[in-house]
Amino acid sequence: MADRPSLPSGILGMKCPNCRKGNMYTNKSIFPLKEMMLMPDRCPVCGQKMELEVGFYYGTGYVSYALSVGVAIFNALWFGLAVGFSWKNNSIWWYLGITVAMLLLLQPLLMRYSRVLYLYMFVKYGSSPHRPPADGQHSVE
Ligand SMILES: [Zn+2]
Repeated sequence: MADRPSLPSGILGMKCPNCRKGNMYTNKSIFPLKEMMLMPDRCPVCGQKMELEVGFYYGTGYVSYALSVGVAIFNALWFGLAVGFSWKNNSIWWYLGITVAMLLLLQPLLMRYSRVLYLYMFVKYGSSPHRPPADGQHSVE
């Protein structure tokens, strides 16, 4: 398949894991924040179910936790290299302050990406047959 979008671009663009074309979230922007986590029932492009089963996304708490730890480690690396850790000049508090501020700011994105990653773990590219949502769109299951 020539126009197969790559895995990283699919994840970064929050695209459906099955076709990597349809958006996983209803709104492209995280604003309004209230609707940040809104997802269509099915991918608008290929019809892939976005919530595989009721409560499917409960497990994403662990994913967003892991992502948060990743951010903290990432900060520790560049901060350690650029500034260095010391109790004497309070730099460790700077590190903690920066990391906490970053995590708060990134929280909406982390929450979104944890769902994206979670669905990618269960749905492989092209695993569902390509079928655009039928006329009715609202399937009762
Ligand atoms: Zn799709």
